[in-house]
Amino acid sequence: MLERFVSIKEGKIVIIGGGVIGLAIARAIAKRKICRVVLIERGRLCNEASFAAAGMLTPNVECEEYDDFYLACRESNRMFPSLAAELLNETGMDIELRRDGAIAVAKSAQEAEQASEKIARQIRLGIPVEIISAEQAAKLEPAISPTIAGAAFYPEDGQVDNRKLSKALALSARLHGVEVIENTQVTGLLENGGRVTGIRAGEMLIEADRVVVAAGAWTDYLLTTLNLPLLGIKPIRGQIMAYFKTALQPKRIVINSRFYAVPRNDGRLIIGATSEDVGFCKQVLPDSIEILRRSALEIFPWLNKLTVGEAVAGLRPFCSDSRPLIGEIPSAPGLLVATGHYRNGILLSPWTAEIVANEIFNDSHQTIANPFRPKAITSASAK
Ligand SMILES: Cc1cc2nc3c(=O)[nH]c(=O)nc-3n(C[C@H](O)[C@H](O)[C@H](O)COP(=O)(O)OP(=O)(O)OC[C@H]3O[C@@H](n4cnc5c(N)ncnc54)[C@H](O)[C@@H]3O)c2cc1C
Repeated sequence: MLERFVSIKEGKIVIIGGGVIGLAIARAIAKRKICRVVLIERGRLCNEASFAAAGMLTPNVECEEYDDFYLACRESNRMFPSLAAELLNETGMDIELRRDGAIAVAKSAQEAEQASEKIARQIRLGIPVEIISAEQAAKLEPAISPTIAGAAFYPEDGQVDNRKLSKALALSARLHGVEVIENTQVTGLLENGGRVTGIRAGEMLIEADRVVVAAGAWTDYLLTTLNLPLLGIKPIRGQIMAYFKTALQPKRIVINSRFYAVPRNDGRLIIGATSEDVGFCKQVLPDSIEILRRSALEIFPWLNKLTVGEAVAGLRPFCSDSRPLIGEIPSAPGLLVATGHYRNGILLSPWTAEIVANEIFNDSHQTIANPFRPKAITSASAK
């Protein structure tokens, strides 16, 4: 069999996976100008979960505990203004970062009662959130039905256009010298003395000082083919839809227990999303989209006149405790993972990129907290 070696003239890092996580890491490493970076993507860049996502940056709405995970989400949220400015400067692309907050609305008194416990807890934890009346919500957000029972406002949350973010990261990474190889699936690892020293992709072999797996929901599938212990990552399907060019639009993210709505600058209104444990199936089901549509109609009755413009599905990389896994795999020196970002991969992309780059270059400025470090589990328990 013919094998093509890509020669190494200097240190090299290989990233597997061209979603938002792989691209953000590739760019962060290349920016340091210490080594060459090669990113390998099985299909086209950002065509999986990172494409399907809604782009919400909502660490506060989602906060359950004031823990390492919340702090990482908050830190990453705070990194977006400078990331957006850098990407605009480097690529001319506007990722449409909006910092106009998010409103959580309760349709009924019962929903309001259920939400009040979570919000009271968030207030005790010091999370930036204000309880507002239905009248205040209607003033803030005239697109919402006046019949809601209550609301809470999260002023520090926001959103980004994830598709534009991905494109800008890809262009910026290339401008910083990242070599991007698309339509090429990584199928094996090179090893020397128990250390991972590169990857195999069909007939192509690429040697590397470190390999970073950013393969999203496919991480365990890849680890199985590499004969490595699994990490317990599985796909969770999210179906999501969008209306195009709505005349009326909420000004900011509106969240309810059954759906969320994310307005885009181009007039799209994104309505999401399902959460389903159905394996690697990306099928969009008309019934699921109809359920989302009906939930949205309860808060935005005027959507009734509009037809759905787009419906897609993506596979969120889920790890058992809904936390990302970042760092070197204990049994495979030289091999790092950055995966399991589940519902927050867009939000966590700048933070993940920085801590992975710090780990690789032994920069102690911002390190990976222990709860995020991968602990391999056996293939039996992963099932
Ligand atoms: C409906 C939906 C809504 C969401 N909304 C939000 C949101 O509002 N905010 C938020 O922060 N997050 C959101 N998320 C979550 C977010 O999209 C994910 O956490 C994030 O995109 C994960 O990025 P990733 O790069 O790890 O994975 P992906 O984007 O899936 O990329 C992984 C890549 O690895 C490639 N790959 C896999 N195996 C190989 C191989 N062997 N060789 C080469 N390449 C390989 C794949 O082809 C893929 O391109 C949402 C997700 C969904 C599905």
